[in-house]
Amino acid sequence: MIVFDLRCASAGHVFEAWFGSTDDYESQKERGLVACPICGDPDVAKAPMAPAVPKKGGSVAPATDMMSAPPAAVKEMLGKMAAFQREMLEKSEWVGDRFATEARAMHVGDIDSRPIHGQTTPDQAASLAEDGVPVAPLLFPVAPPGEEN
Ligand SMILES: [Zn+2]
Repeated sequence: MIVFDLRCASAGHVFEAWFGSTDDYESQKERGLVACPICGDPDVAKAPMAPAVPKKGGSVAPATDMMSAPPAAVKEMLGKMAAFQREMLEKSEWVGDRFATEARAMHVGDIDSRPIHGQTTPDQAASLAEDGVPVAPLLFPVAPPGEEN
């Protein structure tokens, strides 16, 4: 499994998506199966900057831009990322552990597409990605509604 940072052409949303391989990404993109999870735009391309991505086996690929940036710049960047996520989540519905089911139902057209966020197990996330369902991990952990302090 690999993770790509993708960006939609119409609004510039940046999101992460899992694929089995680079070829998988190319073929899914060609068939129009890769779409922005925020606005549904199928015209996506790889985003130029890759954040740190934890790999299986515990090693972490360092994001050089992040590592070499002075602390103030890192703080500002994280602040912007957090603000972006907050903005995104305001328009999105919390579906909790129904996320995998809902995302799959939207993908196959059983229900209308809408922005959702929730929880998946790593297995569910991997199986969604294998089926070409566009999902993206949240940048920061989110407390389920009602469990916030
Ligand atoms: Zn978009």
